[in-house]
Amino acid sequence: RVMVLGSLNVDLVTRVQRHPRPGETVLGDGLRRLAGGKGANQAVAAAAAGAEVLMVGCVGDDDGGAAYRARLADRGIDVGALRTCDGVPSGHAMIQVSDDGENSIVVVPGANDALDEREVAAVDLLGPGDVLVLQLEVPRTVVCVAARRAVARGARVVLNIAPYAALPPDVVALADPLVANEHEMQALAESGAQPASLLVTFGANGASWDGQTLPAVAVPADEVADTTGAGDAFCGALAAALARGSDRSDALAAALAAGADAVRHEGAQPEPYL
Ligand code: ADP
Repeated sequence: RVMVLGSLNVDLVTRVQRHPRPGETVLGDGLRRLAGGKGANQAVAAAAAGAEVLMVGCVGDDDGGAAYRARLADRGIDVGALRTCDGVPSGHAMIQVSDDGENSIVVVPGANDALDEREVAAVDLLGPGDVLVLQLEVPRTVVCVAARRAVARGARVVLNIAPYAALPPDVVALADPLVANEHEMQALAESGAQPASLLVTFGANGASWDGQTLPAVAVPADEVADTTGAGDAFCGALAAALARGSDRSDALAAALAAGADAVRHEGAQPEPYL
């Protein structure tokens, strides 16, 4: 089994001719609501790769949260430990895309900031052979405690150090693997942290796990629709492969295939509209 403990975001996307200056109002063209958030993106990817998946996290008591819960359940993901928090909004990202392709984004963490010991307790469902997937869009203390608890129970922890934040040395060392893109790897190296197992993704140049490097699955430039969520698809598929007992090179190959698939469609998940 794969448990993903992490974020869920409702992405609200509109197109603008140019970004407003402070104090100014501009008109947006269209409004789309998409499913996002690294945690849920990774859970959907792990389920698509055939894993039995449990999503642990929080949504708000609002329509977006309810829609997101239904969406995950539709995909066969266990949402029994997905908590609805009263009085806070679901995590939202308000995304403006201008005609020159520049984005400006306001993220409201909302319910993603509400994770606490109740979510940590869900880790007790795990045992040897299971994989816990973590990222850093939820409170870091919860991530650290959950990671230690999972390892104590004999589960494997895949820790995606994104968005980058410094972590205690023991947490960096227990990840198997710690997954970073090039920017996160750079920040990690500068921090002096010492992972025991490091997997770095290099976008169109593939990925490298403790020195074992595989090329990306080639995607022709005219078929690259949107690279948002490629890293999340990679992590979810990697966890699914590890949970079914694949060795490193098979798991890496499965993750690279999922990462390549993800750049072919718009949004962070397949059929992303919420
Ligand atoms: P992130 O999305 O976290 O910044 P990367 O850009 O390194 O991470 O992409 C993660 C993975 O997604 C890569 O290792 C690769 O498997 C896949 N990927 C990303 N961009 C491409 C691309 N243009 N062609 C093929 N695969 C890609």
